[in-house]
Parts: sequence; structure tokens; C-alpha cells
Amino acid sequence: MSQRIARRLRISGIVQGVGFRPFIFGLAHRGGLGGYVRNTSAGVEVVLEGEADAVEGFLGRLSTELPPLAHIDALAVEPVPLAQHATFVILESQAQAEGVQPIPADIALCADCERELFDPQDRRYLYPFINCTNCGPRFTIILGLPYDRPLTSMAEFEMCPACAAEYADPGNRRFHAQPVACPRCGPRLWMADAHGNESSQGLAAILEARRRLHEGAILAIRGLGGFHLACDASNAQAVVELRRRKGRVEKPFAVMATSVSAAEHLGTIDATSRALLTGHEKPILLLRRMAGAPVCEEVAPGLDRLGVMLPYTPLHRLLLDRQDPRLAAEAVPSVLVMTSGNYSEEPIATSNAEAITRLAPLADAFLLHNRGIEQRCDDSVVLPLPALPFEHAPTRFFLRRARGTAPYPVRMPFEAPPTLALGGELKNTFCLARERSAFLSQHIGDMENLETLDSFEHTLGLLRELFRVEAEIVAHDLHPDYLTTRWANEHRAGAHRTVAVQHHHAHIAACMAENGIGPDERVLGLAFDGTGFGSDGAIWGGEVLLASYTGFKRVAHLEYLPLAGGEAAIREPWKTLVGYGQALELDVQGARGLAGVEPSAIAAIQQMTRRRVNTPLTSSLGRLFDAVAVIAGGQATVSYEAQAAIRLEAAARASRGDARRYPIRLARREGTRHILVRDMLEAMLRDAHAGESQGAIGQRFHQSLAEALGGLLSELRDETQVTTVALSGGVWQNTLLLELAVRQLVQRGLRPLLHSNVPPNDGGLSLGQAAAAVHVAGG
Ligand SMILES: [Zn+2]
Ligand SMILES: [Zn+2]
Repeated sequence: MSQRIARRLRISGIVQGVGFRPFIFGLAHRGGLGGYVRNTSAGVEVVLEGEADAVEGFLGRLSTELPPLAHIDALAVEPVPLAQHATFVILESQAQAEGVQPIPADIALCADCERELFDPQDRRYLYPFINCTNCGPRFTIILGLPYDRPLTSMAEFEMCPACAAEYADPGNRRFHAQPVACPRCGPRLWMADAHGNESSQGLAAILEARRRLHEGAILAIRGLGGFHLACDASNAQAVVELRRRKGRVEKPFAVMATSVSAAEHLGTIDATSRALLTGHEKPILLLRRMAGAPVCEEVAPGLDRLGVMLPYTPLHRLLLDRQDPRLAAEAVPSVLVMTSGNYSEEPIATSNAEAITRLAPLADAFLLHNRGIEQRCDDSVVLPLPALPFEHAPTRFFLRRARGTAPYPVRMPFEAPPTLALGGELKNTFCLARERSAFLSQHIGDMENLETLDSFEHTLGLLRELFRVEAEIVAHDLHPDYLTTRWANEHRAGAHRTVAVQHHHAHIAACMAENGIGPDERVLGLAFDGTGFGSDGAIWGGEVLLASYTGFKRVAHLEYLPLAGGEAAIREPWKTLVGYGQALELDVQGARGLAGVEPSAIAAIQQMTRRRVNTPLTSSLGRLFDAVAVIAGGQATVSYEAQAAIRLEAAARASRGDARRYPIRLARREGTRHILVRDMLEAMLRDAHAGESQGAIGQRFHQSLAEALGGLLSELRDETQVTTVALSGGVWQNTLLLELAVRQLVQRGLRPLLHSNVPPNDGGLSLGQAAAAVHVAGG
């Protein structure tokens, strides 16, 4: 018989709201151990007492048998005196002043709950708010820490005896599941007209919603982190009407399919996509669209991808189910458009009253419930990546990091003092950093209107409190006119230092930080995007940086060209091409995308460029893609940024390609290299004139660019001895360019660094701002 010992464990990581305490309780019981477990605001504390062998056994199983959603970041074990703990118990939570603890994200409906949902014998049969320790709302219902029912929006629902018994039973899978509820005691569901008048409730409301969707109505549906606007994805009339009401001309809508087998008719699903689609995060996945997919063209006009997600709440499951006999009484479309419940770029609506006010002009009816949404949280958007030829290559990019993932922290390779980074202007997120954790907010949106700024401030207020970050450093973008920059200037009162971080430096620093690059290391960074304010006041976006966290040297960039009309050119790629042509003395008449543009309009842009009126200089690669797209036959005007580039990529991917390349030259000037595009554009214009297809031109362009980058990076490696190349910026969402460029780097013995936890687009900027600012301020 071994000796009796006692140990105290302090565990941090994702250990609250994920069934962790019942798991500990079960392990302790199996080992015949005494002691206790309790949540603290720093994580979970466990005291174990028993035979030394049993305690060792417990510690071994702790990491190997962890519940699926739990994740241990740090585990400290210390001996404590024996205290005659005969049994093992779960104690009340204990708040600690200093501690900080990741908040669990919302989790999609689990298989056990799904089974009960459709079991006519179960007391939660067809109950749209069923959940357990392994699934359900978390982040979106949280008001404070520790994560316990009184500090969630479930506080107002008093549990019935049956629910209370499950909640209190350590052997039950609903033990301490904070949102536990049933039809007797929990939230309820109802349908309402555009004035908010109730028309049906419970199961009848679900049936009414199904019928209305089938008939072609547009419904506002209250979900987990906000409202969706939904309609039948195969009904062109309904989809066009939704576009008109929402003020969204062509930007693609996401769809929700009943099941994986239904999703298989929408897009190509490989093993990676299947895992992403069916995992507990359930993001919108950008799948390669299938020919004959049962959705109308208006859902994602002209695109070769389709944003697809599966039902992630019990309510979604009930809305789309085709098996249950009671639900089958009303037919329902097999695929629904599910887009954010907002007008254009405003934040998604969350409360019933707000929705009825703001969404009444958009929706024919409302499917509502009374479980409060404390945190606005959109659907996450994920892009599966092609297989890339290096070790530990990521399999997906987040394009939007929100429901299911936020606000899980990114672990940083250095200690940070309390820091707030405000993020960028578009696709804004902010970042709260302390110690080695960077807590990124969920996607906030485009900071171009006051509603979004309000949402930003609301979320910031809560997360600052939850993560206990009283910022000593505030980081913001270099752009003087961003709302976030103004916010930083207006909130200067505190004792903190403010640090302005250049946009592309922030991109590269974000990629470094999430890949564990240390403070003494340097990388070569390819920061490619549409727009970022440069240190010299120009619009940057085709930048090759030699970077550390503290600073960067711009070792190469796309040559400066005049952007006719400034930022407005984002919607009018034809102007970009005409301006570039004028500056480079090219005859752009052969550009196929200019065919429908009035010669007088072209002449006006040429004159504007000659006189340098409203033609800021840019080195943006995003804008170069626009210009190339217009040459190859893309649209003269677009309705959202990068639309022309996305179509060019799709055409290029579909083209077989050949050995021909376009000339891209380098020139050394003023201590940097300029990437010259004139000869390339000239050759493209000849190809277009000769009737070459958009795909062929696009394919050559992608290939030529990737090879030119490979050559450039080889030279820079030889000069700097730096072999790590960080890829960041929205242009890398172009997976054809990504694949070709990574192949070039690997062939030349360079080590690519890619994003995997934060978006390569501006949604990841705040992490980089924080990482850079901490070192700038500290150095
Ligand atoms: Zn469950
Ligand atoms: Zn109940």
C-alpha cells in the first residue's frame, strides 16, 4: 500500500463551461480520491488526497482523457498538508481579484442533445433551447466572471425541479451546464409580424416559420449572437428582394444546408472541409461551388465559391429538419440563405426591440425568443486551404473570427504588459493582451458608422472587465483619420502610452506573434492587401518588409502609381487601369473590361491623372489585381472590394496555364527595390487584344507574380541571411497565388509563415498592433 499524499492543482486554459468539473469529479471518484474542485477567476483549482499511486494515475489521465472542448494551457501541482478529505466534492466558484481566464466560445449542438431533441419520449423533444455541458451558448450569454448562471442571461430563468436536479448531479451530462433549460422553465419561442405582434409560439412558431420560408418570405431569425435574415436560397425572387431591402448589390450571401449530405450538393467537400463543416465551431465554410448546386445564381453572383454552414443551434435544426413527423407537417426549403440581420454594413441586431425597429423594413416576419444576447457575435467565416508543401502548414484561414472561436486567446511568445490594440478600420477586431495571452475580440465590423463604434465600445467595455486589462499601452493604426485613431486620441486621459503602428507592419507582426517568433528574431514579410496608410503618407499594399516587432525596413514594394479618384477606385477598377496606363504611357484601349466605358469618361480620367488631381500614389497589390482584371475582361465597376480580383482568380484557376510568363522587373532606388509592372501590363494588353481568354491571362499573371516573388525573396535572403517569410494581408485569401508563392519559397529553401488563428486580412491587425506596440514601448 502506497503512502497517502495531498496535492493542489491550479489549472488554466479553456476549463470553464466545457464540462471540466464533472470530468475532474469523475476521475477523482474512479481513483477513490478525496478533495474538491472549484472554478476560480484564474481557472480551476483542484485539491486531491489519497494513495500516491492513485494521485499519480489521476494526473496521468488528466491530460489524456480531457473533455473534447477543454484545453489546458498551464498546470501547476504543489504538495499540501493532508486535511482528511474523505470524499470528493464540487465547491462553489470563487472569484479572485487578479486572475484571468479564457471565456468559452459558443458551441454547436452536440450529438447527445440532437438525439434527445428528436426523441418523442424525451422531455425536451423539439425544444429549441436544449443544451448540455458539451454544447450551447456561452460567450454570447455572459455578463461577468466566474462563468456561472447568475452572471449569464439565463439568470432570469428559474430552473424547474427536474432541470435543477440534472444541474446538481455530478453524474449527469448537464451538471453545471449554465444554460440548462426545458420547455417548463426555460426560454420560449414565438413568431411575430413586422410590428412585433405575436402570431404563434413554440412548435407552432417553428411550423409557421417553415411555411413562410417555403412560401418565399424573408424572416428575421433571432439566433445565438444576433439575428439572421433568412429566405429560400433556391427562390431567385426572394433572394433578389432580400438584396434590394438589405442594400447589398452582389456581395455573396451565406447559406445553411440541412446536413452534410445536403451540403455535398452545394460544394466540393474533402476531408479537411468535412472536419471544419461538422466540427463544434460550425463556421461558414467557403466551398468550391458544385455545378447544379440547388441555389439560385443571385446568392453568390459570378463566384466559384459558396459560403455554406450547417445548423448549429437546435432551433436551426428544427427549422431545417426533414425527418421528424411533426415537423414534416410543413415543408421547408432544403437550403436557406442566412445572412447577418442588418442593413448593409451596420452591426447585426441582437435584442428583439432593436430588431423590430431596425429590421422591420427588411423582414416579412420575426422568429423571436427571450434568451438575452449579451454579446453580439456574427458567424465565423473560414476558407479551406489547398495542401501546402511544408510541415505544419495550416489547413484553413479564418476570414472572420467570431462565433465558436472568439474570444479564445492567442498565445504569444513573449510577456506583455496590459495592452489594448484598437485594430483597423475595416473588418475591425480589437485585442486585449496581458502576460502571454492576446484576447482578440470577435469580428466587430467596418468602423465607418456610429452604430459600429457603439458596438466596439460596448464589447470593449465588457472584455476589458472580463480579462481584467487596465491598459498601460494603447496601440492604433498610423492613419490619422480612422475612427479608432480618433478614439485613441480622445481617450488619452489615462496613464497609458499610445503607440501608432503602421498597417503592414502590424500585419507581419500578427503573423509572427501567432507563429511564436521571438522578440530577437527578424522575418521577411510579404504584406499584400488593398489599402493601408504608409509611413510616407502614400497608400501602401504591395510591401516587402524586413521586420521585427520593434520596426521594419521596407526592402521592396510595388512601384508607385496614381490611384485615380483615390479610395473610390476600389469600386471602379476601370479608373485604376486608366490612371496606371496614363502614368506608364500605355495604350489601354485593348483592355477588354473598358469596352463599355465612354471614351469621354476615359479621357477625363487621363486628364485628371496628368494634372495630378485626386490621384494619391499607391503601391497596392490589390489595386494592381483590379487593373489586371479589367485588362483580362473583368468588370469595369464592382460592388465590393476585390470582386474583380476574385473572379480573375476563379478564371485563372479554371485555366490550364502554359509556360508563358509576363516580365516583372526590379529596380533599385533610394535604398529599396521597386517592383516594376509596366512591361507586364503591356504584354497583357497585347494578349487581351489578341483575344486571349481571361483565364489564360489570369493564370500567367499569377504564375509570373509568384515566380518574381520567389526570385526577389532569394536575393533578399542572400543579403539579410533571413530565411523566414511571413505572408499576411487580404491578398493571400487568393489561394491560387498563395499556393504558387508558397511553392516558390519552399523550392528556394525559405520557410513560409502563414496565419492560422487570426485572419490574414485586417481582422488580424489588432494582434500585430499589440505585439509591435509592446516592444516599441518597451524598447
Ligand atoms: Zn449537448
Ligand atoms: Zn426545466
